[in-house]
Amino acid sequence: SLRTDCPLDKEELGRSAWGLLHTIAAKYPDKPTRSEQRDMSAFFHLFSKFYPCDYCAEDFQRHIQVDPPPTSCYEELSQWLCRAHNKVNVKLGKPEFDCSKVDERWRDGWKDGSCDY
Ligand code: FAD
Repeated sequence: SLRTDCPLDKEELGRSAWGLLHTIAAKYPDKPTRSEQRDMSAFFHLFSKFYPCDYCAEDFQRHIQVDPPPTSCYEELSQWLCRAHNKVNVKLGKPEFDCSKVDERWRDGWKDGSCDY
């Protein structure tokens, strides 16, 4: 592509943001401390306020109000984020992601070994 080192458009920003969010959720502890739980909850609330696409941010804030991020362990958080991402996928007419595959996609790599090189 001729576009190099340019400001991110909405799609590039979204792809990067989801990558970061899913990876953060995948690395979140199994047994987080109270302070980690409080901080993770604050992280999502603040992220949803500063996400630099105004109507995306508003939708995500509403989602978080109705269905706040569960911070009790990585698995709850990862599954919640997968459902939240699927809600956006549906809104945009994209296929839903199979949330049973979220660890393979974002943490362990695919079982066929295609990520091990
Ligand atoms: P993306 O949706 O960016 O996904 C990247 C990769 O994540 C996929 O290739 C797939 O491997 C994996 N993936 C897909 N779904 C899931 C899932 N459910 N769980 C785990 N992994 C998954 N765009 C808009 O036009 N309008 C909006 O209102 C809007 N709201 C957004 C809100 C947030 C919080 C974020 C982070 C992004 C938002 N976006 C919005 C951007 C949009 O979601 C996409 O990122 C963008 O359209 C690029 O899509 P993509 O097809 O490259 O894949």
